[in-house]
Amino acid sequence: MAAVPADLPAPCRCPHCGAVLDGASAVNDAGDFAAPSFGDISVCFACGGLVVFDTEMRLDKLAPALLMRLGADERAGLLAVQRAVRLMRAEEDH
Ligand SMILES: [Zn+2]
Repeated sequence: MAAVPADLPAPCRCPHCGAVLDGASAVNDAGDFAAPSFGDISVCFACGGLVVFDTEMRLDKLAPALLMRLGADERAGLLAVQRAVRLMRAEEDH
């Protein structure tokens, strides 16, 4: 089981906050880390914004319509990660 987040092919910028992201952790059911691929949805670790990898592995904002097409479990998981990131960032601001 790999315990290190995967490197992205090239650093990319969060379309929400502009943070440069150079690694990603995709967590599957087994808790392994996996490299992201085209179409994968992620959460910016800096701002909690929902993003999706495009064909060139750059980040795009996740369209609300796409979020709504996800299964309830997947959507709830993403929103839980987003909430955790935002809570963590809010605590850092104090
Ligand atoms: Zn961001």
